[in-house]
Amino acid sequence: MKILVSKRGGYCYGVQRALKIAHQAALASDGPVHTLGPIIHNPGVVKELAAAGVSCVETLAGAAGTIIFRTHGVTPQVAADAEARGLRVVDATCPYVKVAQQKASSFKEQGYLPVVLGEHEHPEVVALIANAGAGAVVVEKAEELDLARVHGKRVGVVVQTTQASANLSALVGRLSPACRELLVYNTMCNATQKCQEEALGLARRADAVIVIGGRNSANTTRLAKLCREVQARTFHIEEVGELEAGWFEEAGTVAITAGASTPPEQMEAAKLQITNFERQTNNGR
Ligand code: SF4
Repeated sequence: MKILVSKRGGYCYGVQRALKIAHQAALASDGPVHTLGPIIHNPGVVKELAAAGVSCVETLAGAAGTIIFRTHGVTPQVAADAEARGLRVVDATCPYVKVAQQKASSFKEQGYLPVVLGEHEHPEVVALIANAGAGAVVVEKAEELDLARVHGKRVGVVVQTTQASANLSALVGRLSPACRELLVYNTMCNATQKCQEEALGLARRADAVIVIGGRNSANTTRLAKLCREVQARTFHIEEVGELEAGWFEEAGTVAITAGASTPPEQMEAAKLQITNFERQTNNGR
């Protein structure tokens, strides 16, 4: 069996940076250090971080000492609330997400109607909407767009960093005949795009695909969805222990990739486990 391991999967730049910032904050502080929400969608990493002295709180009310904002960023209101509570703020918002927030808020100033392409409840999108201001339109898919809201208007588009490029193309195609003027900031993250492109290439060559990452991680879920579109035998797992030997029956080639919040070593661990399955099958013959 041939096993293809992604070179672009696993921790992205923003996640690596946030983890480093969190560890540095723990070392630099005598008091409690928290992240506002789990730093990444990976329970194992969250546990490791807690052992290093950085615990997770879900609201500012539960925090004291230092609060770390994670890669998704926070709304201006949350940032102000943290200051008002006297917390020391360490901002680990990914710089690419910051750019998207700045573009969203620039639409307000320039008199454009902001349209945010992204998942309604995702924390990154919630912060983007807060930056875009009241009246911003949010759509997860082009078909959701109510054309009456944009008809004849000056419209500015900003995109959740982990969106797939096909979603943006579909939205632009729907918007452009309807609005008076269309300004599009492609704020999709390069790391996500490259990882998705590579994963699609691997999935086309494979008989089974393994995607590793948190089930509540937006970019992992999207990665698995994209791979499934070209290879129905795509399995999304959170941990290597979930792999099942039966998934690889008759598979000549297996591809392994991972979302941006997955330690890259997990892809190698999955490769080892699949190799073990193959060995056990061969021994049993
Ligand atoms: S996926 Fe891209 S935007 Fe998101 S944290 Fe990673 S580098 Fe930043």
